[in-house]
Amino acid sequence: MCIFCKIVKGEIPNKTILEDENFLAFEDINPQAKIHILIIPKTHVDNFDLIAPKLMGEMTAFIQKVASKVGVKNDGYRLVTNIGKNGAQEVNHIHFHLLGGEQLGSIL
Ligand code: AMP
Repeated sequence: MCIFCKIVKGEIPNKTILEDENFLAFEDINPQAKIHILIIPKTHVDNFDLIAPKLMGEMTAFIQKVASKVGVKNDGYRLVTNIGKNGAQEVNHIHFHLLGGEQLGSIL
């Protein structure tokens, strides 16, 4: 079982920011910004390329709620999802990084 599935099952502890029946948002263990949250579906999907559009739509609404909850709506934030080997994805369970709480540098 992947480590994010273990987090969903409560077998690995996490610092939960927001949770509902289908999604979980928790603090990244190695934060790259003042606010660095990971957002995942509770069901296992390897990466963005494989997620069903309906589930992605529901996840979009959940991510927007997370952004509201942590107060980054006004000043803005960054969303990142890494996909596969060339995308440098380390954990094979789709996740969005929500980064913010400070002025981020441009990456593109
Ligand atoms: P990625 O390279 O997009 O697959 O990113 C994986 C992210 O998961 C990294 O930012 C890690 O710091 C984070 N991470 C790995 N294990 C844990 C954990 N147990 N709890 C919270 N974040 C984790």
